[in-house]
Amino acid sequence: MTDGCLFCKILAGDVPADVVYENDHVLAFKDIYPKAPFHVLIIPKKHIATLNDLEDANTELAGRLFTAAKSIAAEQGFADDGYRMMMNCGEGGGQIIFHLHLHLMAGKTFKA
Ligand code: AMP
Ligand code: ZN
Repeated sequence: MTDGCLFCKILAGDVPADVVYENDHVLAFKDIYPKAPFHVLIIPKKHIATLNDLEDANTELAGRLFTAAKSIAAEQGFADDGYRMMMNCGEGGGQIIFHLHLHLMAGKTFKA
C-alpha cells in the first residue's frame, strides 16, 4: 500500500471498484471512464509506479498482467473477435494514475 495511490486504495478495499478478475498477483476492474464498450484495467497487487520502475525481478509479475488479459478475454467471450491492450508510461505517455496498469478494451473494432 503506497500512500495516496488510488489503485492501492482499490486493492485495500478502501475505494470501490467493479472487479471482473482477481488472482494472487493481479486485480482487474472496470475503468470508470470507459473508452470502449468493455474497458478494464489490470493492475499488479504490488505497487509499481510506471513501466520505468519495472525491474528484472518483476518480469513474472509483468507477464501475469498479460495472462490475466488473455483469461479475461476468454471469460468475457471476445477472445476470437479480438481486443486492444495499452499501457501508458509517464505524463508524456498519458499516464494519470501512477500504479502500473494494463488497459484491456474490447467490444468494438479498433482502427489500426
Ligand atoms: P492512465 O491514463 O493510463 O493512467 O489511465 C488511468 C485510467 O484510470 C483512466 O482510464 C481512468 O478513467 C481510470 N480511472 C480513474 N479513476 C478510476 C477509478 N476510481 N476506478 C476505475 N478507473 C479509474
Ligand atoms: Zn499503488
